Amino acid sequence: MRELSAQEHGTREKFIETAEKQKILAHKCVKCGHLMLETVLYCEKCSASKFEDIELEGAGTVVTYTIQAVAPEGFEDAGSYAWVVFKVDNASLRASGFLPGVESPKDLPIGTKVRVKGFDPKHGLVLQK
Ligand SMILES: [Zn+2]
Repeated sequence: MRELSAQEHGTREKFIETAEKQKILAHKCVKCGHLMLETVLYCEKCSASKFEDIELEGAGTVVTYTIQAVAPEGFEDAGSYAWVVFKVDNASLRASGFLPGVESPKDLPIGTKVRVKGFDPKHGLVLQK
């Protein structure tokens, strides 16, 4: 893995701080308003290069997910879990995160509301129903 630049590192720290507040850090193109989760140099819609950070409410609806029977390292006590892709409320953005305690599809119908609970340094966003 390559070293993160200071700017990228700062952005990750900020993303984590935002997640700890149950919110999602996104980058908004100043020119066209397009929202992106990743830090990019140019807007994928209009190629402008100026962005502002905005905090989105860490809530959304489940779009798709994968159930994993074996919990990842650090979550051994969580039992089975799901890797969830969710559409962020009030934004045309999709984010993904880890939702513990999902054993079968009946535990998590598509469209279920999920919220950001925090951030795990190894696995990313941690979600709750
Ligand atoms: Zn743009």
